[in-house]
Amino acid sequence: MAEKSFKYVIVGGGVAAGYAAREFAKQGVQPGELAIISKEAVAPYERPALSKAYLFPEGTARLPGFHVCVGSGGERLLPEWYKEKGIELFLSTEIVKAELAAKTLISAAGETFKYHTLIIATGSTVIRLTDFGVQGADSKNIFYLREIDDADKLIEAIKAKKNGKAVIVGGGYIGLELGAVAKINNLEVSMVYPEPWCMPRLFTADIAAFYEGYYANKGIKIIKGTVAVGFTADSNGEVKEVKLKDGRVLEADIVVVGVGGRPLISLFKGQVEEEKGGIKTDAFFKTSVPDVYAVGDVATFPLKLFNDIRRVEHVDHARKSAEQAVKAIKASEEGKSIEEYDYLPFFYSRSFDLSWQFYGDNVGDTVLFGSNKPTSPPPKFGTYWVKDGKVVGVFLESGTPEENKAIAKVARVQPPVENLDLLKNEGLSFASKI
Ligand SMILES: Cc1cc2nc3c(=O)[nH]c(=O)nc-3n(C[C@H](O)[C@H](O)[C@H](O)COP(=O)(O)OP(=O)(O)OC[C@H]3O[C@@H](n4cnc5c(N)ncnc54)[C@H](O)[C@@H]3O)c2cc1C
Repeated sequence: MAEKSFKYVIVGGGVAAGYAAREFAKQGVQPGELAIISKEAVAPYERPALSKAYLFPEGTARLPGFHVCVGSGGERLLPEWYKEKGIELFLSTEIVKAELAAKTLISAAGETFKYHTLIIATGSTVIRLTDFGVQGADSKNIFYLREIDDADKLIEAIKAKKNGKAVIVGGGYIGLELGAVAKINNLEVSMVYPEPWCMPRLFTADIAAFYEGYYANKGIKIIKGTVAVGFTADSNGEVKEVKLKDGRVLEADIVVVGVGGRPLISLFKGQVEEEKGGIKTDAFFKTSVPDVYAVGDVATFPLKLFNDIRRVEHVDHARKSAEQAVKAIKASEEGKSIEEYDYLPFFYSRSFDLSWQFYGDNVGDTVLFGSNKPTSPPPKFGTYWVKDGKVVGVFLESGTPEENKAIAKVARVQPPVENLDLLKNEGLSFASKI
């Protein structure tokens, strides 16, 4: 097969790839210079929609409605946009081999791609229960959610199992969002997770108590402190039961598993320096290999604000890291330099009519403000994280745009606090005056 050669190649066609393409276009890219190679069959889209409006029975989101960059209020990049710019999109094309020393990528179909500069934007893959040999985990109607194909299969099952029973395995944000959409689709929903409360990596017990209470009031059954250890299937191979470690058995027509992800970096193993499970980069997303950059979920980068090195699996970082890498590539070509990446971690989730945002770091003492009673109408509460006498992180449920801007500013400025009781009493007004 003929070899294809580009000045820039982005491997992976998700959020980071789309925002990188827009930045390339802004900075100036000649037709034929840039190629995006994606395993998925569609142009880059805003992945968070998959566990939200994409699964709604009404007001459903469908492509082309949520192609990047609508998620951040930008222009929607339709496939024609790439064509107009002379950016080649190789869709349904999986790279199965990368030879960084030879600047070569090889696809599953045997195509060879050469590049001068490579941006690795392969994102993450889900952790599967079959990876741990969980009995019956390969039964039909057990789903995972990462790509649009996964979401389409889930939608088919929801239609086929009308008013059936859904078990959500995992209590992270994906589990919580999927629990909500399953309920909205009129399924009878149970959620199972081993931790003492949902989203334990971010939520405090007080924050989680609100969401667990809210979900319970919506009729969702929450089973904590145990895990799914096996599944039984009917004669068609379709899942029928979820067996829990504590001996309980849950009936299920659909199981959705959201137990975490892992960055997709196996193609580059042994060729590039790694750190904290990702590809190590500098503040410009340059890896240890010349002319190779890594962005989005796969990058472990210097987080200047916390004087730390981190990997971040949030859409906001995927967008911003991609833009930073492209700016750095273009600047280095012109012998210029740009500012180091100075990221303020930002994460959000939405389910039912709830919507929360978190900025900063969740370390140190916590101060809950507002009422976290699941029945308080309308819900408005939050939490400050205070470390070494400074506010370093803020969480807020149902903030207005101004309030969310205010908490972002607090997390960035890290104002000092002397008295945690005072901070609790001041609540959101503390953030509003920073
Ligand atoms: C269902 C869901 C909901 C989410 N909701 C939120 C949210 O509410 N808030 C938030 O902050 N974050 C959310 N995230 C996380 C966010 O979407 C990711 O952090 C973001 O998509 C990362 O962007 P990325 O470009 O690094 O990877 P991705 O967007 O995952 O893109 C990677 C792309 O690379 C392709 N690829 C991988 N390997 C190869 C290969 N070998 N060859 C070719 N192509 C390849 C993949 O098919 C994919 O298209 C959510 C994620 C999921 C899955």
